Amino acid sequence: LVRLRTRLSRSQNALGKGLLTLLSREHLDEDTWEEVEDTLLAADVGVAPTQELVERLRERVKVLGTRTPEELRGLLRDELLTLVGPDEDRTVHTETRGAVDRPGVVLVVGVNGTGKTTTTGKLGRVLVADGKSVVLGAADTFRAAAADQLQTWGERVGARTVRGPEGGDPASVAFDAVKEGTDEGADVVLIDTAGRLHTKTGLMDELGKVKRVVEKQGPVDEVLLVLDATTGQNGLVQARVFAEVVDITGIVLTKLDGTAKGGIVVAVQRELGVPVKLVGLGEGADDLAPFEPEAFVDALIG
Ligand code: GDP
Repeated sequence: LVRLRTRLSRSQNALGKGLLTLLSREHLDEDTWEEVEDTLLAADVGVAPTQELVERLRERVKVLGTRTPEELRGLLRDELLTLVGPDEDRTVHTETRGAVDRPGVVLVVGVNGTGKTTTTGKLGRVLVADGKSVVLGAADTFRAAAADQLQTWGERVGARTVRGPEGGDPASVAFDAVKEGTDEGADVVLIDTAGRLHTKTGLMDELGKVKRVVEKQGPVDEVLLVLDATTGQNGLVQARVFAEVVDITGIVLTKLDGTAKGGIVVAVQRELGVPVKLVGLGEGADDLAPFEPEAFVDALIG
């Protein structure tokens, strides 16, 4: 948690600092409120959440009258936290739900380059460190190096990797991975999928098929959508497309270390109605953290 805060604050606290500076002005006129809005929009918070936040801030600042820096800070923290959603269930479900004799199954989906394979590896590491036995399924059979990359992660973290022939059927790799996990009595199977968004129908068919085939052995416990935080609105468009194909149960926002636009957390949750559960804070094996709303908002405010 402390690490999340320090790692995030390096790139994030521009937003909170900017807002605090604006709210500290003696006269909060229309221009100032517009600047507040612009600051939030520039951080990718999104139009509707920005308007809601500004409305609530205006109301509360009015009620407050004179404002001490501590009061302003508290008020802003409070409102940002409400926006981020302090009470969402952000558990990553890796345990089998329902009475099936089978490992928990997590599908990791997203556009290539967002950090899917890396996230799958990092998540594997977290689970192995937690004492679980993990099987990785390399169902991204299209990107030539993806299976090698995943296998390297598997070797690093102590998880077996199930892979198929290059260019083979992703659904059959996914099926095999779950079967292997079941036969071995593994706890969790993490399946890395392909995400070629430029052929939307292809993606629909393929991802839908992967899910259906896996479901022959029981329900999927978690579908994590990996989004690159640095891609802004583009990421939201991707999210929408994926949500049409599979029921996303959680979002992983990667590369938050590389952007000051942390507001994307709010925007993407609104877009999908699904919580951000994990964040990527770097390329290393330990750079995946649970998303903690309070630590996140504290990092924003600095
Ligand atoms: P995939 O095509 O979606 O499987 O993407 P990869 O897992 O291969 O990741 C693409 C690039 O993003 C790699 O260079 C990763 O090291 C990098 N990457 C992934 N997650 C993060 C993150 O949280 N922060 C940073 N800075 N880089 C990341």
